[in-house]
Order: sequence, then structure tokens, then C-alpha cells
Amino acid sequence: MSYTLINPATEESMETIEHLDARQTDEAIEKAVKAQEKWAALAPGDRAMLLRRFASAVDADNENLAQLEVRNSGHPIDQARYEANNVRDVLNYYAGAPERLVGKQIPVAGGIAVTFHEPIGVVGMITPWNYPMPIAGWGMAPALAAGNAVVLKPAEWTPLTSMRLAELGLEAGLPENLFQVLNGKGTVVGERLVTNEKVGKIVFTGSTSVGKHIMRGAADQIKRVTLELGGKSANIIFEDADVVKAATTAPYAVFENAGQDCCARSRILVQRSVYDKFMEALEPVVKAVKVGDPSLSGTEVGPLVSKAHRENVSSFLDGADVAFQGSAPTGKGFWFAPTVVLAKSPSDRCMAEEIFGPVVTVYPFETEAEAIELANGTEYGLSGSIWTRDLGRGIRVSRAVQSGNLAVNSHSSLRYTTPFGGMKQSGMGRELGPDAPLHFTEEKVVFFNSNS
Ligand code: NAP
Ligand code: MG
Repeated sequence: MSYTLINPATEESMETIEHLDARQTDEAIEKAVKAQEKWAALAPGDRAMLLRRFASAVDADNENLAQLEVRNSGHPIDQARYEANNVRDVLNYYAGAPERLVGKQIPVAGGIAVTFHEPIGVVGMITPWNYPMPIAGWGMAPALAAGNAVVLKPAEWTPLTSMRLAELGLEAGLPENLFQVLNGKGTVVGERLVTNEKVGKIVFTGSTSVGKHIMRGAADQIKRVTLELGGKSANIIFEDADVVKAATTAPYAVFENAGQDCCARSRILVQRSVYDKFMEALEPVVKAVKVGDPSLSGTEVGPLVSKAHRENVSSFLDGADVAFQGSAPTGKGFWFAPTVVLAKSPSDRCMAEEIFGPVVTVYPFETEAEAIELANGTEYGLSGSIWTRDLGRGIRVSRAVQSGNLAVNSHSSLRYTTPFGGMKQSGMGRELGPDAPLHFTEEKVVFFNSNS
């Protein structure tokens, strides 16, 4: 079994990737079990040093990693360089963790009680195609820092940067097989990571439907799971906001990565009294978004990841009321122009479903209560933005919106130093932030009898 990659900007065939079967997946997991034993036996300071070396190796390979993501995923080069830097930064951040996984000493009668954060063992990661590099780093770095081995199954369409990261880890001196990338189909390799009893935890990022399937499978072994799933996040603009700033920044909160972003603010809710002003300021910015050759610095948005995905995104425009569109190249490549759609009702398909492409839907509201109800009127709860100059309103609305990551007067709610994850059907558990390594451990308590 194999899969031939396609460059989304040119439609040219590239490398053919050999796929593993279930038996080969089991063999890789077996090797990971042994590597983890070696890793956990190292001194914490030595594990920290090796993670820092891994970060340096990623830093030295930045341009190569970025070029791989341009070819494989169609990400604009400036963005791809940023993504490779993010992997470096996340490795450096969690390199501090092995020496800080401190437990507690708890007062008890007749001895002492001490807690330990024991590694889980082998962690299975299953990643999507939209941000292959950062998402690999967000799971792999804290999992390794907590003393685990990692087996990562990248999306079939976008494995190249994950494969390179595994090589860099090895070059940096990580024990062999500690961090392995297993290429293959979700239904084969991904499925086996869930069913193999030697994998103690699954970190899954992808669609809500596959996430539900993984959670059901994990139940058989009470396997630990973190799920990072879909989103349909709201960008709420109140009449007291800096409406022009909200409008001119809104396109970049949804069209980045061609809208293939779980945090995309893909529902714009605007208070009716400033609706016209908002739309007037939005239009020229949407039309000016630079969609084009991802290998050129300055390109803001590249193509969609694949032909199949472009067909799916296009289907959302059937019967939709398009207000205006930006531009995109024609000819070879899976291009899609940034598109603004007007909704007639909150149940319109473009308002209700995750499109995962450069399409944003605008809908007016009258009152603060209605804005909150609309924002929460979805099964998802990942991200969102609130624009208001009224501090009290900013506090009220940000507490009322059921979403894991919000920004007030900004669209910036994702940082590796702060927790990230979804409420409701956008996921379970949190990644990143200071506590992420703890999510890859089991807390153990030992009582030492002082009267023995
Ligand atoms: P997907 O279809 O759910 O696939 C994600 C991963 O799961 C891929 O590696 C896929 O393998 C694998 N997979 C598929 N079926 C499987 C199975 N039965 N068992 C185990 N693994 C299986 O998602 P996608 O289309 O790649 O990504 C888009 C989705 O990801 C969107 O919904 C987006 O919102 C979500 N996402 C969420 C976050 C977040 O942090 N919350 C971040 C990014 C993306 P194949 O490649 O072989 O299909
Ligand atoms: Mg899929």
C-alpha cells in the first residue's frame, strides 16, 4: 500500500509514501515500548538537554521544513517558516518540564505520603492535514518531556514535515524509536493505535466524527484520550466597538491557511446598527487578500489542500447568498477565492456547519443576549472573538460564550504558553500551556510507613 502526494498549488505528483499495515504498526509500537524504558531511565536533566538539542536541530532545519510544507500542504512560505519556528519554541518550552515534574508530600499519620507523575508509556498521536507541523509539536513535545515515547500517524495527504521532524529528533540524539512517524491510513494505522493495548493514550486532532469513533474505541481499554476537534467559531462585533478595526482584521481571522483552521472565526455576528458600516469596511480588505503562489514571500493565502477538499468547500456555495469575493489564481492548483456569504437564518448550512475553507458567513443581531445565544447555538465551542469598548460587556460576553479560547478586541487566543482546547463537541482535554506534560502522566501516591 502506498500513496502519491500531490502539490496542491501545481497539481504535480510528488513522492510516493509507503503505508504500514496493522502488523507493522504493532512492531513499531513494540519498539516504542523498549525506547520509552531507556528514555525514562535517563536523568531528568539529560532528557531536558536532548529536547533542547532537538529544538536546535529544528531551528537549523527551518528553511527545509518550511519548503516541505509549501510543497506538500500549499502553506505560504512566511507562514510555513513561522510553523517550523513554533515547533522549535514548543520543544524549548517543554524542555523545561523534565526537571520540574514535581510531586507533593502530603501530611498523613504514621508516615509520609508522596505523589509521583509517572509517564503513561507509549502515546499515540493522530494528526490532521491542516497544520501538520505545529500540531505534531503540541503533542509530541510535552509527551516526550513527561517521559513517554510517541508514535505519530500524520494525515495521509501531508506526512512530509512530520517525517522530517522524526529524523531531526534522531539526529539530535533522542533514543532510537522514541519518536516514530508511522505513515498509513487512518482506518488502518490510526485504528491500530487505538486498539493496541500497549498504547496508553491517544491524542487525536481532526474531525468531530472521527473523534467520536476514536473515543468509542478507546473505551474498550479505558485508554486516555485528548480530542481536538472541529469548530464554527463566532466573531461578535458590538456597536460600541472599533468597528473599522474589527472589520479590517476579520478576514485574517478566517482566511488564514485558506480557512483550513479549526479556530477560524467563520461566523461573523454584527450588531444591526453597525452592520452597513462593518460590511463597507470589510469588502476592500477581503478583495485585497493576496491569494497565490505559496512559494513567494508576501503571499497570504495558498490553495486548498486537495481536489476532494475543494469540491467539498465549493458545495457550500450552492444556493448561498454571496455578498462579495476576493480573487484567486485560475488554472492548475486547488484555488478558492475568499468568500463572504450572507445568512438568512442561523440554520443556513453555511452558518451551521464547519466549512474548513475560505468562506465566512455574516449574520446580524439586535441585543447582547441574542449575540450570546447565536454564538452558543452550535455543537462546537473552540474559539472566538468579541469586539467591544465596554469593559463590563467584554467580561459578561466572554464568560457567557461556551468556547475554550476567546479573544476580546483581538483574534489572538492561541499561544503555546496558554492552554488550548474545545468545549462541547470541539473536544476533550487541553493541550499546551504549563500543565500539558501532566496530561501525559498518571498521578501516583505512595505511603511510606514510618513505624516499620
Ligand atoms: P479527519 O478526517 O478526522 O482526520 C484526522 C486524522 O485521523 C487523519 O490522520 C486521518 O487519517 C485519521 N483517521 C481517519 N479515520 C480514522 C480512524 N477510523 N481511526 C483513526 N484515525 C483515523 O480530519 P481532517 O479532515 O484531516 O482534518 C480536518 C478536521 O480537523 C476539521 O474538523 C478541523 O476542525 C479539525 N482540527 C481540529 C483542531 C483542533 O485543535 N481542535 C486542529 C486542526 C484541525 P487519514 O489521513 O488517512 O484520513
Ligand atoms: Mg478526513
